[in-house]
Amino acid sequence: MNTFTNIWEKALSDLERFFAANNNSLGFECYIKSMKPDFEQDGVYYFIVVDDYIKEQITARFADRIVDTLRNVCLEEYGVEKIVDIMLQTQAESDLKNLINISSQPTIRRTTLNSGYTFDTFIVGNSNKLANAAGRAVAKNPGNTYNPLFIYGGVGLGKTHLMHAIANQVMSNNPNAAIIYVTSEAFTNEFIESIQKKTNEAFRRKYRLVDVLLIDDIQFISKGPGTQEELFHTFNTLYESKKQIIISSDKLPSEIPKLEQRLLSRFQWGLLADIGLPDFETRMAILQSKVPVIMSQTGCTMQIKNDVLSYIAQKDDTNIRDLEGALKKVIAYAHLYSMERPIDVISMEIAIFALKDFFIKSEDKIITPNLIIKTICEYFNITEEEITGKRKNREIAFPRQICMYLMRAMTELTYPKIGELLGGRDHSTVIHGDDVISQRAEHDIELQNIISDISAMLRE
Ligand code: ADP
Ligand code: MG
Repeated sequence: MNTFTNIWEKALSDLERFFAANNNSLGFECYIKSMKPDFEQDGVYYFIVVDDYIKEQITARFADRIVDTLRNVCLEEYGVEKIVDIMLQTQAESDLKNLINISSQPTIRRTTLNSGYTFDTFIVGNSNKLANAAGRAVAKNPGNTYNPLFIYGGVGLGKTHLMHAIANQVMSNNPNAAIIYVTSEAFTNEFIESIQKKTNEAFRRKYRLVDVLLIDDIQFISKGPGTQEELFHTFNTLYESKKQIIISSDKLPSEIPKLEQRLLSRFQWGLLADIGLPDFETRMAILQSKVPVIMSQTGCTMQIKNDVLSYIAQKDDTNIRDLEGALKKVIAYAHLYSMERPIDVISMEIAIFALKDFFIKSEDKIITPNLIIKTICEYFNITEEEITGKRKNREIAFPRQICMYLMRAMTELTYPKIGELLGGRDHSTVIHGDDVISQRAEHDIELQNIISDISAMLRE
């Protein structure tokens, strides 16, 4: 017999006497006697109890008494004084912990979570407000708000970031929560492997005993009936025991090919939260938030001004991962450049050069100077004669300056050439126009929006 069992036997008889003396033999019979010693680790004695209710009752009403009794027994019988606490778990919880093989540790394998993907680092704008709020609500009260939470949105728009943020938050609120984050591909592979290795029972227990299950990119779930059936039963078990399920997809549930009807309907039980395309301000805010991170990763200390960021932000509104990639490229390029000629500030020239080929997609339209002139005239409702003409009133001069700025940013034209195209203006006028706009774009949100709208029209 191991010592834990011996100690517990002694403690039980002491406790029985104590409860009887306090006219609570029933309490002893119903609660204390049902505790089964499991194992001891670092002075914490683990017991198995029948269910959550018993666990709560014992913890709330009798835990102190039990700890005191155990401490006395240890001291009197064995001369050791190392009882720190007791910990109660149901058989299911104990199985899960053994399965994942970390006894007193949180049940999640932390390495699967990116600690940088938190709510603090998730920038909120109109495109992801709902998904963010839903994610926070779920993280605060898993299983009890939106279940399942189905997050959908295009590639590179923050679904995975948000899922990790939820999981990280649940974990920091409750370090003992059992959380599993998997991609649907990993889930599929693990399931198939479990059949081959005849470990499907363990697989089943692992997934059905968690507090929070996050499945990323469900659109890649195997079309095979076995995996979908397993997921269906996992879903039901978790749902019925009020455990949180979070799913992400780049499509609406109804648009996922070959998804079984019964899974589809369950995915629609909870909340569908979409992440849309980020507007210009959100893209700017995200880029700004990434600057210090990338700078420190590359060991760079240069400054990057908002006009460069807004140049990057204008380039793409469909994929934040690509924008981040562009920013990394600019910083990396500037870093290399600075080794030859030290610079403090990353200039527009560097950004333009670094990103020369970055956003070219096969279907990309070539942006010509004429297209820029035409589009700007259309946007401001002025004529091409006016923009290339002599008049200097604000209604014309302002669009003309934007024209100079965009021609500089979006084409390879030199200042003199731009001057020539805009009615034979001197290159110093073009430099001034370009400067005025890029400086104002630093802080003028309205101007940033104008530039972003025109860029979008140009790419249409
Ligand atoms: P998805 O899973 O939708 O394809 P990710 O979650 O992987 O997209 O996001 C791609 C990149 O964009 C990540 O580096 C992520 O941190 C970043 N990102 C996306 N949305 C935001 C946001 N709202 N705030 C900060 N970073 C974001
Ligand atoms: Mg993802």
